[in-house]
Amino acid sequence: MSETPFNRTKIIATIGPACSGYKDLLALAEAGMDVCRLNFSHGEHESMNEILEHIHKINESDEFNIAILADLQGPKLRVGIMPEEGVKLEKGKNISITNEEITGTVEKFTLRYPHLKEDLIPGVRILLDDGKMEVEINKAISNNEVEAKIIRGGILKSKKGFNIPGAKLSLPALTEKDENDLQFILNHDIDWIALSFVRSADDVKELRKRICDAGKPHRVIAKIEKPEAVDDIQNIINTADGIMVARGDLGIEMPLQAVPVIQKNIIQKCISAAKPVIVATQMMESMMENTIPSRAEVSDVANAVIDGADAVMLSGETSVGKHPVLTVATMDNIINDVEKDHRPFHKLRKPVENSATFISDEICYSAARISHHLEAKGIVVMTQSGSSARKIASYRPHSNLFIFSENTKLLRCLALLWGVRTFYYSDYVSTDQTISDTMQKLNEAGLVETGDILVHTASMPIENRGRANALKISVIE
Ligand code: PGA
Ligand code: MN
Repeated sequence: MSETPFNRTKIIATIGPACSGYKDLLALAEAGMDVCRLNFSHGEHESMNEILEHIHKINESDEFNIAILADLQGPKLRVGIMPEEGVKLEKGKNISITNEEITGTVEKFTLRYPHLKEDLIPGVRILLDDGKMEVEINKAISNNEVEAKIIRGGILKSKKGFNIPGAKLSLPALTEKDENDLQFILNHDIDWIALSFVRSADDVKELRKRICDAGKPHRVIAKIEKPEAVDDIQNIINTADGIMVARGDLGIEMPLQAVPVIQKNIIQKCISAAKPVIVATQMMESMMENTIPSRAEVSDVANAVIDGADAVMLSGETSVGKHPVLTVATMDNIINDVEKDHRPFHKLRKPVENSATFISDEICYSAARISHHLEAKGIVVMTQSGSSARKIASYRPHSNLFIFSENTKLLRCLALLWGVRTFYYSDYVSTDQTISDTMQKLNEAGLVETGDILVHTASMPIENRGRANALKISVIE
């Protein structure tokens, strides 16, 4: 079986000032970006609009099908306004913290947190600016003010994030800002919505309810970045359409050394549940400045590939880094090279017998198994809902995954999934016709050659557009 030159593990690039022009975005797509991420923690709706227009234009060509992921800030906690140059927090000194808006000084600064009195009790630790600084609460001063001791000092600047590890925060899943951003997202042609700081499956349900009430097709990714979410992980996986291992905040909220094992466990659980999983944050961090990654970063990307993650994500590396295109190209290179030698073909999990989708699940399972035994060049899937594509991809088969659908929105959405390559197809005449058309399309695209074996899944009769209930093996003549 000859190899086809594309990455199975997908690349998500966060779009920001360093790469938001049409030419920049096209260059990112050419370098290997599969999904672009709009981070609603930064950026105005107006500039998001422009980026969306560029991506849609790039997608109009046959060559690209970039999915769009909108990332909601969620209940992220932030420091108030500080002077331009920041304020120096000196280790060992005491400082006052208020939840009233002031401009910070060496004596006092603002934490934008409504439940200061209830939650910031003596002994509670607060990590500032991604854990760079740390303070511990000494005592309450008033209803809106507490005194804290500076444990680790540094320069604290305006609106930096802060975390209260282990605290059960009394905040809604969607803030006012999120509600506003959500309106924008639901009114735009966007595929995935990521929700930050998910605490339980209920947070995911709340977002999904908003989407359903608006009658929109957007899918939900739960960002795992709090210990409570790790504790409720199976319910969250079952409820969400996908998961992001958000190592940035997770590594602040939990001991850093706990993150790698949590990452591996979550990936395995997501693969078992056939839900896409993303590994995020600091994958190629040093390339924000440098033109080559560190050995540790290469190893980090390689390990995510070996573990079978659906996608690896770039944040600051592409949004504000010095070398966005080079970073994507380098990541693409690492992925392709690792995948040549190591593919995480998954031991085949038998479908659950009493499941409502048992018959189509059995077809997907058999397609993966047969493709493996026959060393098929590809598994060709006709799909309406994307469910067959998701199930077959979860086996991480060695054969290529060629997905055909008339649903263009679905095709774009699937760009996030491991191994999936998509094609538009709308002639629902007969199953025989469809199978021969898809073979011809793959042949024309140079993706198959004489003697190659293909395994097809289909739904018969084709005009019912139902779940997969048929399998066919064909050989390219
Ligand atoms: P963020 O999420 O970049 O929105 O903070 C990812 C992470 O925390 O790792
Ligand atoms: Mn985060």
